[in-house]
Amino acid sequence: MRLLVTGGAGYIGSVVASALIEAGHDVTVLDDLSTGHADAVPAKATFIRGTLRDDAARVLSEGIDAVLHFAAKSLVGESVANPALYWSHNLGGSLALLEAMRETGVRRIVFSSTAAVYGEPERTPIEEIDPTRPTNPYGASKLAVDTSLTEFARMYGFGAISLRYFNVAGAHQDSDGKWYGERHSPETHLIPNVLKMALTSGPGAVKIFGDDYPTPDGTCVRDYIHVADLAGAHLLALGACTPGEHRIFNLGNGAGFSVREVIGVCREVTGQDIPAEVTPRREGDPAVLVASSAQITSRLGWRVSRDLRTMVADAWAFAQGGPR
Ligand code: UDP
Repeated sequence: MRLLVTGGAGYIGSVVASALIEAGHDVTVLDDLSTGHADAVPAKATFIRGTLRDDAARVLSEGIDAVLHFAAKSLVGESVANPALYWSHNLGGSLALLEAMRETGVRRIVFSSTAAVYGEPERTPIEEIDPTRPTNPYGASKLAVDTSLTEFARMYGFGAISLRYFNVAGAHQDSDGKWYGERHSPETHLIPNVLKMALTSGPGAVKIFGDDYPTPDGTCVRDYIHVADLAGAHLLALGACTPGEHRIFNLGNGAGFSVREVIGVCREVTGQDIPAEVTPRREGDPAVLVASSAQITSRLGWRVSRDLRTMVADAWAFAQGGPR
């Protein structure tokens, strides 16, 4: 298929673009490089630097069969500080894309949603039927896109699938040996921050944001998923888009891991005694966030095949050898 990957210069978008190319698809990446990196775009993809508002219609009219939509702002803290930016980029940009799809007759879309749409969960693991009460503009703007997709499926016959997930980790190496991994600036995520500490062996310590949560070891529990498993889910979703339907699937790895457990695995993988210190809680962190993948497993046959150790080992390989 001829596919448009929006946000294909970012972490998840570039891994999925690479996986799509390896599955034999023809990929065009549209990315404004506001947070992505041009050198993350797979060499075999056509790269267009541009925005959803200004460039999506032109790119789609060149003969695209389906869209995988990743382009978005994704920092919770930034969204709280600057909500308008998130509504403009995440909802405004997505609506421009959907409108361009409608105009050009492209009807299939896989959307990178987020489990942040659920807010503080009432139960664990979170299922797709659970209430959506986002606690920040990031989650709210993504939920608004999900709602738009439901409408575009009903009104215009779009075949859409939204994938909702929490913490993505790991890296991917393509058949040419190129690594794709996480390069955020600033980096706020746990695993790359811990590995950065191991890489630089500099002064200081990894910060554990609170150890007084109601969890087995007192630190927050999160659902980590390998970016290559996530890419596999996007490929399955692409094949399952059905005209007139918007389907929503959670992705998770079943169990969660505490911050201390993650740091422990990072120590094992790197062979370094990475120092860590407990600091006050980070605002807005729920104690446990774990999603149920039962639906996508039973409906689309998706399976998690990479464990936390593999995520950390791949992220470590990327941190040591990949671009930074
Ligand atoms: N965390 C931490 N120290 C860090 C970064 C994150 O203790 O330097 C904790 C954070 O409070 C959360 C978990 O690790 O409980 C995962 O955070 P991350 O920012 O990676 O992802 P989030 O769960 O916010 O999407």
